[in-house]
Amino acid sequence: PCTDFDMAYFHSYAHVGIHEEMIKDRVRTDTYRAAIMQHQSSIAGKVVVDVGCGTGILSIFCAQAGAKRVYAVDASEIAIQANEVVKANNLSDTVIVLHGRVEDVEIEEEVDVIISEWMGYMLLYESMLGSVIIARDRWLKPGGLILPSTATLYMAPVTHPDRYSDSIDFWRNVYGIDMSAIMPLAKQCAFEEPCVETIVGENILTWPHVVKHVDCYTVTISELESVTTRFNFKSMMRAPLHGFAFWFDVEFSGPAISPNNNQTTSLLTDTHPVDGSQRKKRTNPNEALVLSTAPEDPPTHWQQTLIYFYDPIEVEQDQLIEGSVTLSQSKENPRFMNIHLEYA
Ligand code: SAH
Repeated sequence: PCTDFDMAYFHSYAHVGIHEEMIKDRVRTDTYRAAIMQHQSSIAGKVVVDVGCGTGILSIFCAQAGAKRVYAVDASEIAIQANEVVKANNLSDTVIVLHGRVEDVEIEEEVDVIISEWMGYMLLYESMLGSVIIARDRWLKPGGLILPSTATLYMAPVTHPDRYSDSIDFWRNVYGIDMSAIMPLAKQCAFEEPCVETIVGENILTWPHVVKHVDCYTVTISELESVTTRFNFKSMMRAPLHGFAFWFDVEFSGPAISPNNNQTTSLLTDTHPVDGSQRKKRTNPNEALVLSTAPEDPPTHWQQTLIYFYDPIEVEQDQLIEGSVTLSQSKENPRFMNIHLEYA
């Protein structure tokens, strides 16, 4: 059923600003368009569903790539504008806008391709991937294409002295007044919740750890309800540790080709997500386009998600930073996420 949380969620996508921000994110939108063009041979003449079409931009890219029919589905009021855009571009014969949830709308045929831009902050915030899974299980033909095909969430320890001094040390001396009494409140206000902000490669103390690798062809809703991972970092330098950064990438690699048994291979992938050699072979494994939100890559509107400590911890070079993190869908509002972090 469509809950109040869903209503609020879809309503937030009725505002033009959020679509403007996404479309102006050239890293995002250009990578999607390039991926659609790269997979043109699987899209031309085929049936596509765009899960959460927003303004309709990805649906129109698919129509331009020669799709026979595109079902552009969105539960937000923005679907009304999407329909106008489709009409104004003379694509009404190809792009069918369905204003409703993918969970509820009816499509009277199987589809060859699912495209969706479902990624939230820290990948899983908003929990929209569940709707892509539902679309896949409702409509995708066996051997069909899902774009993007995989997603990986990473984390790494971070040093960020400037950020800390800007919002915390600032209170030590304000116009010559010692306001350090405000520092506990400043820490609470600045660092109580995860921060979405841009850091750079130099802020990262060592190689990232894979929190979760998702294969969009096989992932299930229940495996996303709670994700737990243990991490073990070895700091490459001596620095104050201010917290942890999270980011993700997605790959537009196409369906997995597995020589023998798909199930077995995907189990392997899930148990050893860090080791690239365990990844499934895919079509064009070398040329697969990647949309990355990593600190060392060009910035996107997702930026990175930072979890700061109230106080930095001095770490030595080669010092171990270990612990675990659990990401779980909030029971109160499934669009929200609880983060449980332990570290030593
Ligand atoms: N595809 C567009 C918009 C992406 S934003 C683009 O790339 O620019 C995600 C969109 O998915 C939002 O407009 C939101 O309303 C829609 N959405 C999320 N979950 C949905 C669901 N279960 N059913 C239908 N639409 C959904």
